[in-house]
Amino acid sequence: MGFSEPKYVGHCAFRGIALYPEGQPFKARVNYIYGRGLRAGFVPISQAKVYWFICFNNPSPGPRTDDPSILKKQALELMRNWPSDLLDVLHNTPDDVVIKTPLVDRWLWPGFSPAASTDNVVVVGDAWHPMTPNLGQGACCALEDSVVLAGKLSAALKDGGESVEAALRAYGEERWARIFMVTARANLVGSLLQWDNPVVCEFRNNIMIPWFVRLAPFLEHTNFECDLLEPVAST
Ligand SMILES: Cc1cc2nc3c(=O)[nH]c(=O)nc-3n(C[C@H](O)[C@H](O)[C@H](O)COP(=O)(O)OP(=O)(O)OC[C@H]3O[C@@H](n4cnc5c(N)ncnc54)[C@H](O)[C@@H]3O)c2cc1C
Repeated sequence: MGFSEPKYVGHCAFRGIALYPEGQPFKARVNYIYGRGLRAGFVPISQAKVYWFICFNNPSPGPRTDDPSILKKQALELMRNWPSDLLDVLHNTPDDVVIKTPLVDRWLWPGFSPAASTDNVVVVGDAWHPMTPNLGQGACCALEDSVVLAGKLSAALKDGGESVEAALRAYGEERWARIFMVTARANLVGSLLQWDNPVVCEFRNNIMIPWFVRLAPFLEHTNFECDLLEPVAST
């Protein structure tokens, strides 16, 4: 459909899920730890499971490695001397659930990027707007796309007035502003979080992050309301 390839942003992520069959010991909150060009986090997702991630700078995405035991070793190597809670989470992760993902995005520049639909073909989610995970919004936006698209299609089919093609165009136009803003913001937040200069990191950790997090607008993107789906009448 004429889209450019997603662009590598200079950092990769390791992710995994730790298993605690006897129950995990953590409070129900997201734990973030910031280093230099390196950050990590973990969050309990059930009584027995803890999700974790590590983001690290790398000039290139590097070779594809599918052997999860190698990935886990690399993740542990990056986290040497980091807090023991985090290391505990990594050690409790089975090798075969560790994955590595080079982080990419695609900015949909107004007036330059192709439309979300061509004829009767339309894209949603990462196929249209891959974004970095720094705001945790990629899957959320894919779901929002689906709701808006379903609403436009259902209106077009119900009224018979608007063509499907026009409904797809209206979907792309409505979603574009939201997507562009979140993609750009996630990219900029990623650059800030991946800084590796020690002085800049001190400033970031002790002044910028506490100040930003206190400001409600920093999280305003999470309060987005898209259309509501109408229930389908049963036949
Ligand atoms: C490190 C990391 C952390 C993230 N954290 C968050 C988060 O906290 N919150 C959040 O909202 N998002 C997060 N995301 C983003 C989220 O994972 C994606 O935005 C989301 O998965 C996109 O969903 P999708 O359905 O559009 O695409 P995908 O999840 O990529 O699904 C596409 C599917 O299509 C399949 N497929 C591809 N080609 C074909 C084909 N030719 N035929 C058949 N099937 C095909 C693929 O195998 C895949 O299963 C994160 C991403 C990363 C990398």
